[in-house]
Amino acid sequence: MARYTGPSCRLCRREGMKLYLKGERCYTDKCAVSRRGTPPGQHGARRTKVSNYGLQLREKQKVKRYYGVLETQFRNYYAMAEKQAGITGDNFLSILETRLDNVIYRLGFAASRKEGRQLVRHGHFTLNGHKANIPSMLVKPGDIIDAKEKSKSSPKLKELKEKAVTVPKWLEVDVEKLQGKVVALPSREDIELPIEEHLIVELYSR
Ligand code: SF4
Repeated sequence: MARYTGPSCRLCRREGMKLYLKGERCYTDKCAVSRRGTPPGQHGARRTKVSNYGLQLREKQKVKRYYGVLETQFRNYYAMAEKQAGITGDNFLSILETRLDNVIYRLGFAASRKEGRQLVRHGHFTLNGHKANIPSMLVKPGDIIDAKEKSKSSPKLKELKEKAVTVPKWLEVDVEKLQGKVVALPSREDIELPIEEHLIVELYSR
């Protein structure tokens, strides 16, 4: 299962904005984008004119990096979205949001999607009572996500009970039980990330 293992802050600097890949550090003044907002590399600070294609490409890269997905899987999600009824861009974002690692993050069980992915990989959660250690699993309405009994005593998950989190309206959380429920599929309004998905649709429709 391939994943990006390089420095996370470099990705944010490349996109010129905070992608919140490192949890709490992202909210402090140690954030690399706050300290040095130029793209990485020797010529990063150079100003260049960005073409239409360049804009589309950057938007795609940004969304891939938000969700920690590599190209092939990203393309596969797009193909799934195209086959569904409705607006392809909305379907696409909805699919990405329903990845299990993202849901763990949205429920407040992890400080970042990356941490959500790690917790899932380490087998701390179940989905509808069954083992769920694949971060790319897609959830659907009615699904129940539970922390495993022995994981509930881990310092990391215990810490969560003291933190109040606001979950999106398509999810419900019981912090005491460390349990989450998917009540609906996310709509476009539920996804507050600054994404211009039409640029990705244009890129893939070339
Ligand atoms: Fe991005 Fe977070 Fe690093 Fe800031 S601290 S550059 S938001 S990963």
